[in-house]
Amino acid sequence: MTTNTKRRNFFRGRIAGLWLGFMAALASTSSLAEELAIYAGHLFDSESGRLLANHTIHVVDGRVDSVQAGYAKRDRETLVDLRDYTVLPGLMDMHTHLSYEFGPRTYMETFTWNPADYALRGVDTAKRTLEAGFTTVRDLGDTDNVTISLRNAINRGTIEGPRIYTAGKAIATTGGHADPTNGYRYDLMGSPGPAEGVINGADSARQAVRQRYKDGADLIKITATGGVLSVAKNGQNPQFMPDELEAIVATARDYGFTVAVHAHGKEGIERAVRAGVDSIEHGTYMDSETMDLMRRHNTWYVPTLMAGEWAAQKAQVEGFFPDMVRTKAATIGPLLQKTFAEAYRRGVKIAFGTDSGVSRHGDNAREFALMVAAGMTPADAIRSATWNAADLLNVQDELGSLSEGKWADLIAVSGNPLEDISELQRVKFVMKGGKIFKQPAAVKAGN
Ligand SMILES: [Zn+2]
Repeated sequence: MTTNTKRRNFFRGRIAGLWLGFMAALASTSSLAEELAIYAGHLFDSESGRLLANHTIHVVDGRVDSVQAGYAKRDRETLVDLRDYTVLPGLMDMHTHLSYEFGPRTYMETFTWNPADYALRGVDTAKRTLEAGFTTVRDLGDTDNVTISLRNAINRGTIEGPRIYTAGKAIATTGGHADPTNGYRYDLMGSPGPAEGVINGADSARQAVRQRYKDGADLIKITATGGVLSVAKNGQNPQFMPDELEAIVATARDYGFTVAVHAHGKEGIERAVRAGVDSIEHGTYMDSETMDLMRRHNTWYVPTLMAGEWAAQKAQVEGFFPDMVRTKAATIGPLLQKTFAEAYRRGVKIAFGTDSGVSRHGDNAREFALMVAAGMTPADAIRSATWNAADLLNVQDELGSLSEGKWADLIAVSGNPLEDISELQRVKFVMKGGKIFKQPAAVKAGN
């Protein structure tokens, strides 16, 4: 086996089970390698943040074989001519919910939708996400493990979608943001436990993490403070005790999981950071003290500005939210942009995330415009969705830049995204693992 085959085998094995990976490796070694030469008019180097001109990316069996200055095609290679385009590594969104898409009737879905309805929605949202140029996402919370099945179906090639790293069902405490029966009447409320993602105390925290390992999740998501869209009064109170957080993190480490933390309030964020979690999502009420703490602990910040913008807009629409939610949406939404601007200035590590599913799936790239409007450079914004995102996922040997040995996940846009960041909202070409999923009529792959 070549090094590439071994690495591919390892990667797929982690995602879809060792047996599937083994079969895939057998299938690809028995046929001739597929080789591509991709001509890039401009190429965004996500490691340095610079734009290079006139490069060729050689792809063998879905992975980058080499990247060279100038245009040169080998005889056995198929040409993909993107000389009129800017090529970038595939975009990575670290905060999505593929099985959700908010609308005024969302609060009713809970009572009327079966797991299959959520899963089938995921077929559509995953495709839209990939076509928008997002070749990798984290899914930070579903029900009934439907995004684990969605991930597996995509890895098998049954349906089209991004590489998914999913947390499965998020973990909350009783009455907390991700308690699945919040807002129900008493006889329907029941008392969900660790399997359903509700813990109280360190023992049940450990059980919940181990259940997610058993379910086949890729990482852990917890809701450490109140949230905006749940039917509950408080949007920022701390909802985990330090011993519960420590139990979550220690158990997660045993299984190689990272821990992503939904949090708005300062106290809840700081407890989570001290416990050693990997990323803070939203982070609305963090202040300079919190930001410095995050820098010391090397904690990532995933801002989800689109969710803030969306919540603030919908709070203006009469009857869109229950009253309890409307008040929180109007207050918390606009604060996010300010917090993000300050976190960027203070040098907190930032990874790109939209909370899509709150806003519409496929609109993910609007987040870039909001980040740049708040003062981030376009190059840093793109790096947050490539180089940094791969770092947060611990997959920098596989994804996040176009360099030797990594997956050939790449996109192309017409103009220069460093001059006009909204170009990323008009992605023209999408390749994942060397396979083309979207291309303009003018780009013809051929010899
Ligand atoms: Zn979310």
